[in-house]
Amino acid sequence: MDDNSFVCSECGGEISESDRICPHCGAVIEATQAEENMEVETAAMFYSDVDAEIAKERLEEAGIDCYLLGSSDGSMRPSLAFSQGIRLMVLKKDLEKAVEYLKGLNIIE
Ligand SMILES: [Zn+2]
Repeated sequence: MDDNSFVCSECGGEISESDRICPHCGAVIEATQAEENMEVETAAMFYSDVDAEIAKERLEEAGIDCYLLGSSDGSMRPSLAFSQGIRLMVLKKDLEKAVEYLKGLNIIE
């Protein structure tokens, strides 16, 4: 259960994702690279919860991390969610792959 490990750029010691200071050498962990990888983009827009969930499941099956934005989680009125659509968000680095994958499945055009 340790496949999420990161290494300190100063000493090469193993650190965890949440560490802001290296437990080995005390270096402040630069978040730039992690933040870049954490940037998200809209891969697709859906107007139905069902379609959005299917797309999300397909991407997860393909090993692409994603989440839905604007789905009916109670914070948004259905009418508003409908007019704005449900956005399928993926990490920027996975965007192209995600879009191609969804196109290949005819989930998006
Ligand atoms: Zn270190």
